[in-house]
Amino acid sequence: MPFYRTHHCNAIRSTDAGATVTIAGWVDSPRDHGGVIFIDLRDREGITQVVFRPEENPEAAHAAHALRTEDVIQVTGRVAPRLPGTENPKLATGEVELVASELHILNKSEPLPFPLDADISNEDVRLTHRYLDLRRPAMLRNMKLRHKAIQAVRNYMDAQGFLEIETPVLAKSTPEGAREFLVPSRVMPGQFYALSQSPQQYKQLLMVAGLDRYFQIARCFRDEDPRSDRIIELTQIDVEMSFVDVEGIIALSEGLFQAIFQAALGVELETPFPRLTWRQAMDRFGSDKPDPSLGMEFVDLGDVFKESAFKVFRGALDAGGVVKAFNAKGFASVTTGQINDLTALAQKHGAKGLAYIKVENGTWKSPIVKFFTETEKKSLTERLKIEEGDLILFGADTWATVCHVLGRIRLRVAELTGRKPAANQFTCLWITEFPLLEYSAEDRKWNAVHHPFTRPMAEDVPLLYAGDPFDENALACVRAEAYDIVINGMEIGGGSIRIHERDLQQKIFHVLGISEERQQILFPHLLRAFAHGAPPHGGIAFGVDRLMMLLCGTENIRDTVAFPKNNRGQDLMVGSPSEPEPHQLRELSLSVRKRE
Ligand code: ASP
Repeated sequence: MPFYRTHHCNAIRSTDAGATVTIAGWVDSPRDHGGVIFIDLRDREGITQVVFRPEENPEAAHAAHALRTEDVIQVTGRVAPRLPGTENPKLATGEVELVASELHILNKSEPLPFPLDADISNEDVRLTHRYLDLRRPAMLRNMKLRHKAIQAVRNYMDAQGFLEIETPVLAKSTPEGAREFLVPSRVMPGQFYALSQSPQQYKQLLMVAGLDRYFQIARCFRDEDPRSDRIIELTQIDVEMSFVDVEGIIALSEGLFQAIFQAALGVELETPFPRLTWRQAMDRFGSDKPDPSLGMEFVDLGDVFKESAFKVFRGALDAGGVVKAFNAKGFASVTTGQINDLTALAQKHGAKGLAYIKVENGTWKSPIVKFFTETEKKSLTERLKIEEGDLILFGADTWATVCHVLGRIRLRVAELTGRKPAANQFTCLWITEFPLLEYSAEDRKWNAVHHPFTRPMAEDVPLLYAGDPFDENALACVRAEAYDIVINGMEIGGGSIRIHERDLQQKIFHVLGISEERQQILFPHLLRAFAHGAPPHGGIAFGVDRLMMLLCGTENIRDTVAFPKNNRGQDLMVGSPSEPEPHQLRELSLSVRKRE
């Protein structure tokens, strides 16, 4: 028998009764019923009940007594209907059992470090024994879903005329935002590769090469502190197309997401996905990755309070700022402790305080209501649809501070009140027209919001050339041909139409403070390529691991990956990272000096 078995453990049915079959797998739960041994035998596909009867084969029955959970065995036997009343409707094989005639123990298992059917809160234990953890049904389901999603990507992209092309993992440093992992070269002592944080430049060069439509399931490496939704070794569906505009990329991506959700979950996503410009998203939800389904949209109250006696609101408006509020519907039950925490959160993000109104027993309870006129109160009631039991939270400051602060408060309120998307509910959204640049007060320079290869919107290009060398106010207004896809408040992907002209690219480098000399060190290939017939092009990349969090319904990104690193970047199973052997360092012309 070339494959140890004739069937897997989810194959036999009542129609097979009488057939002789061989199955192999793991002992799930051995039970001794007065000499008759029952075993649930498990493999990747499911479970089959095996029964060892002493009268059928005393030798096998005797050996079966010694079986323990997670032993690996091979059993040959006869398929028989279960006795009436003993069927198990929860199992696809539940109407039958295998009456064993032959047993081979292929591998014994020692007692497990943790039971497979219990919830293990210590993730390090799970990660140390990941090969056991992956046997758990929830993890097995995640691995299968991931496979299905990736196959759907390959099928869809192939059908759309994309070529799957691999690009180097040992790459060159790029200023795309993340800290990079460096790999020393043995052959060129003192020189280092950077592990690719994304195939960005390679995919653009593939377009210059005329390959037209590229995709890759690409491994990317970013040396950032891991979080519940961020890992250092991530996987992207990386895409680039020539002769395409924003609409083209969006249409392709929506089709791709429909295909993935259909294949993995049988869920039909409705297209086109709604769109918000970055400004609208910030204005209404205080986030560039909002989940509108949580409600609590911001309302602008500038006109209501422009003559207000309440100095905080009036002062903000007079200074050119804004007053906004949102209704945390039904949350008048907020405790003083929670209000204090929310206020501290607002202050941490730059607000001076947090004004609020609780509506309880028909009265507005708030330290600020005494400053409001009847007309102001009436307008508030109408605009914010205020009712008994509501909590209203305000922000008054510059536009940017108010949006940012209320955005944080809104998310915290959602957490406190348990607002979250229902299972299998997916709110998909495009965010467009991001700012091209943002000023970093810390570095005292302009940085690219997306990356330096992103195309400015045509109508904003003149702003880049206003002033000499540039006009700071104008730079802040330049919008990018960039887009992010957001699902349930999580950024799942993003991309842009690219610059394909050498002059414009150099202008952007210049604005970003990358001198001509540095440009020749960092990007000579790109600048040369743009001088040899570069087509207009654009692309996008989707985070597979985050997408899988949605498809698997988990809040832990590591549950979507077979062998993830823990939150300190360690693979506890194999013990990496680890110290190199002295001869390895010698070969690399390196010596290690540990920080005290
Ligand atoms: N390379 C970008 C990223 O990894 C995506 C893109 O612009 O296509 O975020």
